[in-house]
Amino acid sequence: MEETDVTVIGGGILGLSTAYHLAKSGYKVILVEMAKIAACASGSNAGAIRKVDLTNEIDSRIYAGSYKMYQDWHESGELGCEIDLSEASILRCFTDEHVERMKYGLWKRRLELWDRAGLHLVKRDEWTMMEPNVARDITWGIETTTSMINIFRVCRGLAWTAEKNGAKIFTNTKVKDVEVKSGKVSMVVTDRGDIKTDFVVNAAGAWAPIIGRMVGIVIPILPAIGTALVTEPTPSITRHRRIIYDPLWHDPHQPFVANSTDPCQRLGVTTEIDRHLTEDNYILARSEHIVSLPSKGAKTQTEPETIKCIAEGAIRVIPKLENVHIIRAYAGMRPVCEVDGKPIIGEVNGIEGFVLATGIWHTGMSYGPMCGKLVSEIIEGKVTSIPIEELHYSRFVKNHHFPYIHLFRWVN
Ligand SMILES: Cc1cc2nc3c(=O)[nH]c(=O)nc-3n(C[C@H](O)[C@H](O)[C@H](O)COP(=O)(O)OP(=O)(O)OC[C@H]3O[C@@H](n4cnc5c(N)ncnc54)[C@H](O)[C@@H]3O)c2cc1C
Repeated sequence: MEETDVTVIGGGILGLSTAYHLAKSGYKVILVEMAKIAACASGSNAGAIRKVDLTNEIDSRIYAGSYKMYQDWHESGELGCEIDLSEASILRCFTDEHVERMKYGLWKRRLELWDRAGLHLVKRDEWTMMEPNVARDITWGIETTTSMINIFRVCRGLAWTAEKNGAKIFTNTKVKDVEVKSGKVSMVVTDRGDIKTDFVVNAAGAWAPIIGRMVGIVIPILPAIGTALVTEPTPSITRHRRIIYDPLWHDPHQPFVANSTDPCQRLGVTTEIDRHLTEDNYILARSEHIVSLPSKGAKTQTEPETIKCIAEGAIRVIPKLENVHIIRAYAGMRPVCEVDGKPIIGEVNGIEGFVLATGIWHTGMSYGPMCGKLVSEIIEGKVTSIPIEELHYSRFVKNHHFPYIHLFRWVN
């Protein structure tokens, strides 16, 4: 039996960042992770960091706050390791046909947004870095940059710093139940013992609904699988660090078409070709569609059909990749809110001490550092440094009290 102020469920970026901020504020924290640190989405993503969102003010402020933390960690070395914060050049490429379609609808609006951000469509022969190996029918591009971090170092560094500040981290430990007494969380039951606790932070990513059911609430999160492939080490055949080509012309909020006969559409494949800076190989990505959670543990299985579509997409953009072998494939579950695609952050009305930090779909690494700070402020009873009422669980259930918790309790 352990006793603590806060139990954080999930050793992904959101759980780790929360544990880091709370431990630094002097709270007794235990983080419980059923596999290892960064076992799921936080260990399978590209590590691209946004600084701004042109359409959403809250996201923009959270991204800016997180980016500032990454800069501080990069400069101070506080996380005990180099987090490899760097700027990467990006080329978004388009065919003539795509540019024609940009005169209408969704893609017209996307082009206007890019224009507002100072990103302009440029003809191939005017790109600042020529790409002789990009397929000849790709005649237009938008050149931009993104920040990138080393996701494993950030996650392990946050775990290390949280522990240095007194937090306990239990890996290979699965939460089986959360007990609520008189409307307040009291105990977390794991397969390796119980934890008496005042607060529970549900940062279980795509598994957050399972933890929700333990306290009798429905959390509308679905697992959106994303897959990436690693090539063998190979001499560089591209100049931009990241090349993006979106063959589907999809709405980013509807990344796949579930009943399409075209596998690329059904699996939501967009081509991203990333040059790995230190390993001399390429990472080829990515896909997105809804699947079931893994039947056991956090290990997400890759699917042969998705691997084939991603590889074919990469070869379509850089034909020379046909001669390069894939040595590994991996996948992670993005937690996506099926109601509105937005994060769910904050304490749940009617269950004192039960706090949600989940549903960060495509941008968990950009959101994570600041989100952990906001969750820590909620637990400390402070006014959050960014107002996040619209991300609260109560947006689904107005004036929700939970008088029937005992009827809905469900143990995994
Ligand atoms: C292919 C891909 C590319 C991406 N690219 C980017 C990118 O470039 N930039 C970006 O910002 N974001 C990106 N994302 C999104 C980002 O990875 C996620 O938003 C983020 O990692 C979600 O973090 P999390 O902590 O909520 O979830 P996770 O990292 O999934 O962590 C949840 C953890 O909870 C644990 N858990 C679940 N149930 C239990 C239980 N009962 N007991 C104990 N532990 C439990 C799981 O094992 C897991 O480790 C990408 C995602 C994918 C899949």
